[in-house]
Amino acid sequence: MESQIPALAPVDDGGTAAGRTHRVTQYTSRLSALRAGPHKRWTVGRRVRRVAMLSVHTSPLHQPGTGDAGGMNVYIVELAKRLAERDIEVEIFTRATSGGLAPAVELAPGVLVRHVDAGPYEGLAKEELPAQLCAFTHGVMQAWAGHRPGHYDLVHSHYWLSGHVGWLAAERWGVPLVHAMHTMAKVKNAALAEDDCPEPTARVIGETQVVRAADRLIANTDEEAAELVRHYEAAPAKVAVVHPGVNLERFRPDGGRAAARARLGLPQEAVIPLFAGRIQPLKAPDVLIRAVAVLLEEDPSLRDRLIVPVVGGPSGSGLAKPEALHKLAARLGVCDVVRFQPPVCQEELVDWYRAATVLVMPSYSESFGLVAIEAQACGTPVIAAAVGGLPVAVRDEQTGFLVPGHDPHDYAAVLRRFVDHPHLGDAMGEAAAHHARGFGWGTAAAETAEVYAAAQYEHRRHLRSIHG
Ligand code: UDP
Repeated sequence: MESQIPALAPVDDGGTAAGRTHRVTQYTSRLSALRAGPHKRWTVGRRVRRVAMLSVHTSPLHQPGTGDAGGMNVYIVELAKRLAERDIEVEIFTRATSGGLAPAVELAPGVLVRHVDAGPYEGLAKEELPAQLCAFTHGVMQAWAGHRPGHYDLVHSHYWLSGHVGWLAAERWGVPLVHAMHTMAKVKNAALAEDDCPEPTARVIGETQVVRAADRLIANTDEEAAELVRHYEAAPAKVAVVHPGVNLERFRPDGGRAAARARLGLPQEAVIPLFAGRIQPLKAPDVLIRAVAVLLEEDPSLRDRLIVPVVGGPSGSGLAKPEALHKLAARLGVCDVVRFQPPVCQEELVDWYRAATVLVMPSYSESFGLVAIEAQACGTPVIAAAVGGLPVAVRDEQTGFLVPGHDPHDYAAVLRRFVDHPHLGDAMGEAAAHHARGFGWGTAAAETAEVYAAAQYEHRRHLRSIHG
């Protein structure tokens, strides 16, 4: 076999692939220098044609914005579709969470979702899934055994649970493992909300193992790449930065704020700070509610024209107290302005973004924050905590405001600027839509395909060095 592989070498393409900005870089301490310079494209004997993508704990078919479904689900769906458009087939393995599911469902041409039986359909929390990883791996291996050898060229795992399955599958199949963490226990634990529960040590151990086993790690931002190196001792050369994207066909300003407000039945003159996403302490929707209470205390006349939609459902540690936010709003006397909305599909969410004066994202930690870039793509500025990937998603003072810390008074002060200067939202919204256009999923897929090629090249070179 090896003799069929031609001599492989990285080729310098000058980083000028048409119509896109390269961001795939191997993370090094001189990352900015690398970014500015030429990038490598990898030539390989056989290109990556089919990827086994692993998403153990949440299905790409689930509604995001509640429970275990969020940005990672959106990421996987969008990335897989764009990879398929680039002639890289994707088979996504996920745990079956209800009876009667078809073993395989076509999500889009070239994208298949495979349901794997591993444990009971209902009643298993994410925290209990480590005990099901053997069963899940068994299901993945069974699917693989039905194909000719070499069916999958690469494994791409998402979140550490999938990384463990990918570790074994990739080794058994003799293919590279590319892994994306999405969130990291050590990072989350370093910035917990008050009263939130820390991630268990078992997860830290599991993540450390996956970092060691992976051929390539994909980080959302330079910040995440640095965290992988700092907290998990990832080899810098293994880490590539690929910014996630936004579906620019779906998320766009379109008819604008007035039309969206009319469709949603919202008053045209209202001030509307929006929260959208999974409701859990980590996302800090309570900071927005508290900030709104401060704002109303300072200026009670605002009450008649303030509407605060909270779109999403309970998730993670927020599941233990699903009524906590309602109770907080009642305690602070702002129930009349806060409107809780169950999670909606993205086709509906787009109107909430458009209708909002500003999106507020006071998260304690955020590996990227897709809702921030989606809102901006709709022409809506963002007030975000200056944590994780949010300083990449939001341009401070241009497309929104980054707030250090989580003091509701600070958020109230920034909200006040949108109240006092009604045109601020329009000016920033325009800049926001422009900024978001740099984050298409097509670019993310092209860069991911390059990471695949680099991983495959290195993997084969390693095999050749072993087998001669
Ligand atoms: N989302 C949705 N419906 C909702 C709320 C959120 O479809 O009611 C989607 C939203 O469009 C975004 C994702 O959920 O793509 C949340 O991603 P983000 O990165 O902001 O947060 P995560 O869930 O990854 O923590």
